[in-house]
Amino acid sequence: MAVAANVSEIDHGRDILRDSRGVIVLTGAGLSVDSGLMTFRGSGGHWKKHRPEDLATPEAFHRDPRLVWEWYEERRRAAAKSRPNDAHRAIAEFALRRDDVVIATQNVDGLHTLAAREAVMGDKYSKQPRVSFTDGGDANRALPLELHGTFYNVRCTSCGLCREHRDLIDVSSKETLPHCDDCGSLMRPDVVWFGEPLGVVIERAFDCASRSDACLIVGTSAVVQPAANVAMVTHQAGGVIIEVNPNETLLTPMCEVSLRDTAAMAVPPLLTPDVDG
Ligand SMILES: [Zn+2]
Repeated sequence: MAVAANVSEIDHGRDILRDSRGVIVLTGAGLSVDSGLMTFRGSGGHWKKHRPEDLATPEAFHRDPRLVWEWYEERRRAAAKSRPNDAHRAIAEFALRRDDVVIATQNVDGLHTLAAREAVMGDKYSKQPRVSFTDGGDANRALPLELHGTFYNVRCTSCGLCREHRDLIDVSSKETLPHCDDCGSLMRPDVVWFGEPLGVVIERAFDCASRSDACLIVGTSAVVQPAANVAMVTHQAGGVIIEVNPNETLLTPMCEVSLRDTAAMAVPPLLTPDVDG
């Protein structure tokens, strides 16, 4: 078990974030573990005989699209049933309260987007927004840069047409998989696979990182490149890195503050404003 993060470390991190001009929040799989989602490699059952590297590639999809879609559909359904946790909510509200926060995520589960929507519109239970916009703020500013794409978009393998797809996918045959409305070709998950470049969205993340006084990195071990370089860009531009991770990471030696705790435990006290304002 992780040791609860030190209170003075949390206070130090909170002071830095409060006083920073520009904050980029970079998140990874560890954030969604607290929502009950397995990490990429945690899928159980019959998937254990396949490595992610054998499924999340263009070659695997070309060889057996039905198998790859079956794997994604299982993970899509798990994600669709999951809920944002306290860390997702705290990050969304932090980004909504300020106008200088950008969220970038390696996750494809859509939970940042759901947390942002619920912060503005209320969740299905309360219907009460948690952040109001009397200052004329923009609700969209809590939407993340999705560095690795999203489970909820599909992309045509021929013409590149991209569209939202939230419905269940029948993975029983190649014919029942999603097909392009324009050209009829097979659609694939709109996610970044092994060996594929990240889209222009990574350039936006680097640009934000270079203009931020602080990078808050949550639930990623920073071994996935080039996404992990986002934190280094902030560091090299003179900003500080704050990490939340139960384990030491490659970035730890560069961090001003390292909180050894789960995201749901450490992030809310770090981002929630003082009661007295
Ligand atoms: Zn097409």
